[in-house]
Amino acid sequence: MERPMEVLIIGSGVTGLTTAIRLAEAGFRTSILSRERALDTTSVVAAAIWFPEPTNEAFMARSLEVFLELIDDPSAGVYPLEITEYLDYRLDEASPAWAEQLRSYRVLADHEVAAPYISGHVLGTVRIEPPIYLAYLERRLASLGGTLNYREIDDLSLVAADNRVVVNCTGLGARTLVGDESVQPVRGQVVHVRNPGITDGYHTHITGGPFTYVLPRNEVVVLGGTRIVGEWSLEPDQETTERIVREATALDPRLSGSEIVRVAVGLRPGRPNVRVEFEETAAGPVVHNYGHDGNGYGLSWGCAEEVVRLIESRGGGITS
Ligand SMILES: Cc1cc2nc3c(=O)[nH]c(=O)nc-3n(C[C@H](O)[C@H](O)[C@H](O)COP(=O)(O)OP(=O)(O)OC[C@H]3O[C@@H](n4cnc5c(N)ncnc54)[C@H](O)[C@@H]3O)c2cc1C
Repeated sequence: MERPMEVLIIGSGVTGLTTAIRLAEAGFRTSILSRERALDTTSVVAAAIWFPEPTNEAFMARSLEVFLELIDDPSAGVYPLEITEYLDYRLDEASPAWAEQLRSYRVLADHEVAAPYISGHVLGTVRIEPPIYLAYLERRLASLGGTLNYREIDDLSLVAADNRVVVNCTGLGARTLVGDESVQPVRGQVVHVRNPGITDGYHTHITGGPFTYVLPRNEVVVLGGTRIVGEWSLEPDQETTERIVREATALDPRLSGSEIVRVAVGLRPGRPNVRVEFEETAAGPVVHNYGHDGNGYGLSWGCAEEVVRLIESRGGGITS
């Protein structure tokens, strides 16, 4: 039997770990090199729910399918979540295609929606607890024989080789590593407060305006959110914390007086679209899988399987 091809993944956030697992399962000799540990990446700051996005529907759908299966594994840190979204526009009568895949879906009646919102829906989706889930992915990779080591790579050509495929899962790091200036930080701040017994989530959408979310976890509730394109600061902003707590408490008054446990800032790897693409470089083959913006979890399994497909067919992919 032919010796399995060697694959080196750069990055150990949710993208790198998920990609490494699918490659190891496909029979490749798989190792990861990463500057940071998973618990120090943007992936750990994520609110981490599966929430629909209008692009990359196939990747989103495939990831949801996998997350729904992972609910049954108590060690994975994936749980069912009902989330109500209030919108400042009227929803179409027909259910969107993704709704059929959810655990449940219902459009709110008019009397359930108050101004400034015009409509809303309740999505039976999944929530992920990043510290539990990332540790689960690391264990799953180790059990498949994959290895994880910590080192910064500042030149992909030094690790690329003819008999090895390098997979670039560096998120925002791709801006410098491969000089892709379309990759931009999209700053997000979240406030974790002690959970007073909340089990359902809320999300608001005001077109072009601020949005608020309330997402329960086992011990805390994650409150958000912000999206500031081009902002690099990882320092929490006190005024933003106060605004988030005030608006979240207006959505769910049970949050009133809940102790703040942690304020965290993450830089989403923003890009006009995710880049999942095969590139034949002078030093050897490279597959890119970065630029997931606010949906790294939601896209993770679909993109990871696309990377396997690109390596097995050696070519193609999406970029924009
Ligand atoms: C506030 C907030 C809320 C969010 N909510 C959600 C949500 O509800 N659902 C969802 O799906 N997504 C959400 N996201 C988005 C999600 O966090 C990201 O899309 C995802 O974490 C990106 O993962 P990644 O593995 O591609 O990048 P990262 O987690 O940033 O990991 C990048 C990895 O590459 C390594 N690296 C970078 N450069 C180098 C280098 N030169 N050499 C070696 N290693 C390198 C880093 O050390 C790290 O290990 C949210 C993000 C934020 C900030």
